[in-house]
Amino acid sequence: MRKGISVLLVTCCMGISSAFMPGPEEGMYPISLLHTLDFAQMGMNLLPSDIYNEEGNGLINAIVNINGCTGSFISDEGLILTNHHCVFSALKPHTTEANNYMRDGYLAKDKSLELPMEGYKVRIMKSYKDVTREVLTGVASMKDPLARDAKIGENITSIKLKIQAEYPNMEIEVSEMLAGSSYILFMYEYLKDIRLVYVPPRYVGEFGGETDNWMWPRHSGDFSFVRAYAGPDGNPADYSPNNKPYLPQRFLQADFNGVQESDLVFILGYPGRTYRHYPSGFVSYMQQVQMPYIATLWEWQINQLVTLSQQGAALEIKYATKIKSLANTMKNYLGKMQSIERIDLINKKIGEESLVNILLSARNEGLAKQFQDNLDKMNAAYQRLSALGERRFWYGQLSQASQRADLAWILASYAQLDESQRDSDTRKKYIKAIRVAYRQYDPNTDSLFFGRMLRDGLRFKVDGLADALDGRSPKDFVALVYGKAKINDSTYILNLVKKKPEKLAKSKDPLIRMQLLLAPGRASVASESNAIDAEVRSLQPVFVDLKMRATAGQFIPDANSTLRFTYGTVKGYTPNGTYMAPVTTVGGILEKADKGGEYVLGDELYHAIINSNSGEFFRQELGSVPVNILYNTDTSGGNSGSPVLNKDGHLVGLNFDRCFEACVNDFAWDDAYSRSIGVDIRYILWVTQHVGQAGHLIDEIRNQ
Ligand code: ASP
Repeated sequence: MRKGISVLLVTCCMGISSAFMPGPEEGMYPISLLHTLDFAQMGMNLLPSDIYNEEGNGLINAIVNINGCTGSFISDEGLILTNHHCVFSALKPHTTEANNYMRDGYLAKDKSLELPMEGYKVRIMKSYKDVTREVLTGVASMKDPLARDAKIGENITSIKLKIQAEYPNMEIEVSEMLAGSSYILFMYEYLKDIRLVYVPPRYVGEFGGETDNWMWPRHSGDFSFVRAYAGPDGNPADYSPNNKPYLPQRFLQADFNGVQESDLVFILGYPGRTYRHYPSGFVSYMQQVQMPYIATLWEWQINQLVTLSQQGAALEIKYATKIKSLANTMKNYLGKMQSIERIDLINKKIGEESLVNILLSARNEGLAKQFQDNLDKMNAAYQRLSALGERRFWYGQLSQASQRADLAWILASYAQLDESQRDSDTRKKYIKAIRVAYRQYDPNTDSLFFGRMLRDGLRFKVDGLADALDGRSPKDFVALVYGKAKINDSTYILNLVKKKPEKLAKSKDPLIRMQLLLAPGRASVASESNAIDAEVRSLQPVFVDLKMRATAGQFIPDANSTLRFTYGTVKGYTPNGTYMAPVTTVGGILEKADKGGEYVLGDELYHAIINSNSGEFFRQELGSVPVNILYNTDTSGGNSGSPVLNKDGHLVGLNFDRCFEACVNDFAWDDAYSRSIGVDIRYILWVTQHVGQAGHLIDEIRNQ
């Protein structure tokens, strides 16, 4: 419950304004707004200071960000619980056809066998400070949006440098909370030695595969245990066999009794990005331009990768993580697009905007006019963005799809450097980028994906592309580029960069020539979209401020990858007229396995289920072992791996997904469809014990 919800609103505007006031459970509360919540009324046995306090022993000290996901410390030996899908790619460097950990999972029987997680880092938030005044110094009088943005950027850099000098061992970040009007500085500690402890088999971790992804009812064991290590002095350190398990300031206690329907739950985590304080024009832009293009392109790429994966285990291992991440976003976009239609979101947003206008004009005509002008300008900006169409994404997608095209782009941009930009540091950066492009080159997909991008580019009338093809069909151009063009030869390319850019500018290589011909169009699309972005950012503070004044309510900032609190209850829902209960059980795994397809059931889990009608995690009232739970907290991407906590702050589940209808949460939350999905703590423990045979981990968690 929010404290002191707008008396003004209730008395003056009863009825109409409730159409866009957030419901009680909507809201990813920044830690700085916790004091605005009435914990007692919510039914919590905690105070906001039990969650965050300056002494550093609040629950947030147990919460970590792990490569964009969330996780939590659950023992005093640095044991972290997070999702299977958050650590899956860490298995790849250790996986071979003989030891297929990606497929079979991994268990370190003792600490000496815990495997390093290449490229993984854990971030812990230590403190925060409002720096809005410092960030906006000298900005108020600036009219030009690009100059304004640049000044804000400069101020942020100098604040960061100043604080960094005082705290050299911390990472400092300044996050924009409300566009152009509220900024918070966060201090983070980073741990760099993270190791795999227990990852269940893939058929458990993602039971039901893409069929069940973003769906309810669900039966997924999407969890894993990893461990953070620190140097012998307890401070963060790079990987070393001499490091010791990290002693966290705080760790969570698991409640082995779990939760049941109607129980209060709350979540602490790092939701990535939401867009609720954006106008109707933004939603139509996403619906009509960005999401359909990306979803269609990625669906095509996934199909190609799946076909290649069928050729053998080596390719299957190679493409598993890529397919998984493309498919996850693609299905999320499909969910968003369908729900925008289903709930008629664009018209709903237009309705809300008219309502703001009415509420403002009841107070002051001038404010209403200011709101309408501002809104018209924002919507016009999104129309200009729509006019740029798919071209806005095409250049970036081309570089991602084809490393050769990317390489040619690096060389083409090098060729455009003028005299003043040719220092040796710049040259080194180019050489590094070339090496990265070569390393990522994949001969199976590069020409295939490049051909698709050419066909798309011609359809979108990308400037300069037809000239580059010079009358050839995409197929013939692919054959030319992947035939004998010298761009295949890395020594030749690296030598080119050592010479003068002018030489490159005259290159006869068809791909470099293509990128040079595309360059002016690319620059103009980039500068137009940067100008539009800056304009929208400069308009947004007024938009939000006036919306806030109209409702006299509190605005909770959109998610921006900073730590948030959200609460709700374990609760079913009724999509398409059929009620769905909020708890699933292991019996459902057997039912789904009978259907075949992606419902694959391994022997270990099968036998465990057959013998599951007693034991610590069996629930008499369910007649089974619970698997997944559904609740109406407000979450988004990045909340993957967030702990689900009960009113005492004890761990009862692990958030990993949302239902299909809730993909649209990122634009609009509603209690009717916004449901998040978690693994019940009892299933995590039950699988660890009966499938993983890792009783020592249960002891480590229980003995806290
Ligand atoms: N599974 C989701 C993800 O991809 C979590 C969510 O968005 O709710 O991050």
